[in-house]
Formats: sequence, structure tokens, C-alpha cells
Amino acid sequence: MLDFLGNLERTHMCGTLRAADAGKHVVLMGWVNRRRDHGSLIFLDLRDRSGIAQVVLDHDLVPEGHAKGEHVRPEYVVAAVGKVRLRSQEAINPKMPTGEIEIEATELRVLNDARLAPFSPSEEAIQNEEVRLKYRYLDLRRAEMQRNFRLRHEITLAIRESLSRQGFLEIETPILTKSTPEGARDFLVPSRVHPGEFYALPQSPQIFKQILMISGFDRYFQIARCFRDEDLRADRQLEFTQIDLEMSFPRQETVFSVVEQFMKAAFAAAGVDLLIPFPRISYDESMRQFGTDKPDLRLPGLTDVRSAFTDDALATLQIDPALPIVALRIPSVGELSRKEREDNHPLFDLKKGAKFIDDFKRLAKSFPEAAVKVRELAHAAEEDFLIVVAGDPAHHIKASDTKFPGRLSEREINVYAAAGNFRAELAKKYADKHGAFRITDEIVQRAAARNAASDPLVDGSQAFHPMWLTDFPMFEYDLASGKWVPAHHPFTAPCESDMANLVSDPASVRANCYDLAMNGLELGSGSIRIHRKDVQQVIFRALGISEEEARARFGFFLDALEYGTPPHGGIALGLDRIVMLLAGAGNLREVIAFPKTAKAIDLMAEAPTTVTEQQLKDLHIRAAMKS
Ligand code: ASP
Repeated sequence: MLDFLGNLERTHMCGTLRAADAGKHVVLMGWVNRRRDHGSLIFLDLRDRSGIAQVVLDHDLVPEGHAKGEHVRPEYVVAAVGKVRLRSQEAINPKMPTGEIEIEATELRVLNDARLAPFSPSEEAIQNEEVRLKYRYLDLRRAEMQRNFRLRHEITLAIRESLSRQGFLEIETPILTKSTPEGARDFLVPSRVHPGEFYALPQSPQIFKQILMISGFDRYFQIARCFRDEDLRADRQLEFTQIDLEMSFPRQETVFSVVEQFMKAAFAAAGVDLLIPFPRISYDESMRQFGTDKPDLRLPGLTDVRSAFTDDALATLQIDPALPIVALRIPSVGELSRKEREDNHPLFDLKKGAKFIDDFKRLAKSFPEAAVKVRELAHAAEEDFLIVVAGDPAHHIKASDTKFPGRLSEREINVYAAAGNFRAELAKKYADKHGAFRITDEIVQRAAARNAASDPLVDGSQAFHPMWLTDFPMFEYDLASGKWVPAHHPFTAPCESDMANLVSDPASVRANCYDLAMNGLELGSGSIRIHRKDVQQVIFRALGISEEEARARFGFFLDALEYGTPPHGGIALGLDRIVMLLAGAGNLREVIAFPKTAKAIDLMAEAPTTVTEQQLKDLHIRAAMKS
């Protein structure tokens, strides 16, 4: 028999009670985390989102409550009325924040029962993720998940407050809208009212936030949901949340400073002190040093080892002398067998026109001096794993050799990228050996263990490495089509000094855009926008977007540009990724309440599903056979 809640009102949260509360009358409500039956005494660990308190049902004091306690099972929902008392010395549990006290119950109400759960929310780690996702409501009851979502709330709140303080207004933009050009596939929603016509879910609020600048709002932000129909990865979901902002009359530095302020606030909300301003690096320099535009500074970068090789050595090794020759070093890996090295080979991207040498013993036999010099240049210790990556003349890719003073050619970029990707993959694989990522886990744990918001923040400078990336090329060479294609959305402004070359020399043009990277993740990207219609038209032309196509896709925006558009720019940062970093999680699913699996399925709601014939008919749609 279940009890009614009646007039009973909760007085305290379970996890907040301390020794100083002894003697207080309390009413607690929550779930039975564990139950221990000691005959005349039954102990219930009562759990709510604040934590756990121990309730004692003493047969002599509350015979009726004790009798109910005999039938109570884990995850039953109960209300316990009683008095806080200090535990006897030997019963104190120093591991529990409420371990010094317990509740001597005077009444127990069983508000609801529960089926036997497929796993217990009191378990720390549950291996089977599919079961976790199917029973997400139980999974979310676990302390770790409760912590992640509290953290997410605190971080989001801090960001909102920081942006509001910096003069930004939060304005919502539509979800049912027109396609936004972020380079992914759209999710389409058929219109019932307009047969054969579709809305698109926004890939980002890009066009609307620019229009808000035309509308004179000066500074806009939104914690915005974005939708992109892409393949899922550990750091990518179909729908995700961006901290999206736009401002009028900014320079790059203005945007950087706004972001640094709110990032500092977000990290502080998680207990971590983040140093600002963030360092900056140009795209080319980042490729040279790390082989990627999202560098992870916790590991050594690439080293230029060209000087270790004579021209003869390069010829014998069949290495292209005109392309970069770099070494990557993964510390403390120890000696690897040939088999172990071969297992790594699929991690190297052969499509970038590069090759690698990972057998240093063999290299040392044929070119002892070069082998020693490479080790020296890369500062490699005996147990470090060293690999040389270089251009492969036998597999020259179809890339452009166009070179501008001080800039990297596409072919060079590809060799660096091959080294950078290999570095990132091997760093993941040998994480236990080099231990370089451990510092981040440690700092996250120390930050989480702070007792009060007033405790000093934990220094995050060794654990989190933010980096602004600037001076991206405006165009990329598309290997498949052999054409220059836009590297960013088409509203990104070119650098003013490169404007003259837009048509004659697209490869030379840099974009006025920037990325924020941290620990090997891209956290966000943005740009100064094109605010003049004449420039926008030139860019469309340079991007191969015809006038008709531009009108059909964003005619409304082109019109708006003609009514007094201020210079403007902005950025969007991935909120989920920031929370993932600060929660010390390895997957976005740990910080999104109801995520999709890698196969794009919501296992709990069982979406997507088929719909009825009638629904399709209403939408003027005929379904093709399910493949
Ligand atoms: N709309 C861009 C994106 O979603 C960000 C920006 O340019 O502000 O990546």
C-alpha cells in the first residue's frame, strides 16, 4: 500500500545535513539508494540530488514505519520524518559528507514503488552504455551525472552573466527556418501548409545574428541549439549547443577579449582559474608546429629535422627534399616491437602525400649520423617514440604548389597534417604511457573536490591550453575537384589587405577569421563579416556561387545588407565541448541529458521512427521503401 504525500512538506535536502543540525526535526524526500535490514533496525540510505542521508527505522520507536521499511526496495520513493542525531563514534562514516549524523525516523511514507532496475543508480561505473542510454532516467540519477548537469548549469549561468555584464542581449532566433551555410547537411521539416516546401533546422543562427546587427542591437548572444546532419563522433552530436554571439564595430581583439572574459567566468564556475589573455598562433605556424589547427600543447610539437639529412640520404630514403621533414615525439612509450609498430600504421593517413620512418634502429644502421641528429633536434629521450614524417615523391598528391612569401603551400600543409594526425592518434593510443593528459584529470578532480564556492580556484594553467588561431586561408584546395573552395561560411570577410587578389589569386587570400582551440579540441570559430554588398558579391563570385543561387539561398539577407549594415563580427563556441572538458568526460554524451548514439538513435525515446500514413499524407509526402 502506498501512502499519499498529503500536506507533508520537505524541510531539508538529504546531502546538506551536518553535525550542527543535530536535534532538528526534518522531513526528507527522495529515493532509497540502499537498504540494510538488521532485524529490529532498518537503515535506509535516502538520496536526493544533494546527496545521501541515513535514515534509521527502529522497531521499538516506529513499529509502523519499521514494518513499511521491510517492504521498501531500492529506488522506491519515500518521505522520512524524524530527528537528526549524531552517530555513535564507531558508526561515523568519514567518506560521506553526512557521515556524522543519521535521522531517527518517527514516520515513513512510501510514496511510490519501483520496478527492479536494470542497474543501480548507486553504481559508480556502468559498462554497458546502451543500457545507460535506454534507461537514461536511471542513469541520470547517478551521482556523476547529477554532478555533470549541475556543472553544466553553473557554467552556462556564468557565461550568461558575463555576456550580459559585457552588454550582450540574449535574443532567440527561429528553429524552423531556411538553410544556413555551415557546410553540413540540413535537417528538413516538410510544410503541411505549403505542399512540397520545406523548412530547414538551423545549422547555426549565422544569418539571423548578422541581421540583428543590421537591426541595431549592437551586441547579441544566444545559448543556441544547432542542427547538423553529420556522422557522429565522440565530440560531435546531431544537435548541439553553441554560445553564439555577434557584435557591431569589432576588431578581432574585441571579440577575443569578450570570449576570454566569459571563458574565465565559465572555468571559475567549475573551480578552475584560467589565465587570460589566451596565446595566439597563426594557422601556418600551428601547422608547422603541431600539424593541426587544434593543437594539444600537453605533448611536444613537431620538430623540423631537415638539417639532419644530407641530400644523398634523402635521395636514398626517397624523401621529397622540397617538402617539410619533421619528427614527432611521443614521450615514454618505451621500445616497440615490429608488430606493435605495424599495428600503428593504419593510423597514418596515406592520402596526404606523405610517408614516415618509425624504425629508428634501421635508420641508425644506414644513416647513423642522421638518426643521432634527429634525436638531438627533437630532444628525444631513450624511451621516447620518434617518427619522421616527410613528403613522398612516389605519391605526389593533386595539391597546389602555389606559394606566397612566408606562407605554406597546400602540399606542405598536407605533409604537416599527416604528421599532426599521426601525433594525435598515437598520443591517444599511448596516453597511459606518456601520462601527459593526466594533469587535466587531476585538476578537474581537484576543482570538483573544492568544498565551497569561496575556496580558492585551482590553477588550470598546466591542464588547459587555450589558443587563438588566426590568419586562416580564405580558400582550400579541394583534392577531389582540383578547385579552390571556401574554407569558411560565405559571409567571412577576407583580410582587407588581401582583397585585391580575390579573383586573380584566391590561394593568397587570408580570411579575417579565427578559431579557439583547447587541448586538441576546436572549441569555436568566428570571423569578421562582410558588411558591404559589393564585397559580398565579389566573394560569392570567387566562391563560384552564381547570382541566382545567392538570391535563392540568401536573397533576404542580401537585401538586408543594403539598408545600412554596420561592420560586424562574432563567434560561436561549443558549450557541450567546454562542459565536457571541465567535467573530465571523454564523450559529449556524458554532458548532454538525452543524447543520440553513434548511430544517431535516441535509445530511450526510440527515435527516429516511422510515422502513420495519415501524417505523411498531411505533409504531402510519400515514403519510399525502408532500405
Ligand atoms: N556560425 C559559425 C559556426 O557555427 C560561427 C560564427 O562564424 O560566428 O561555426
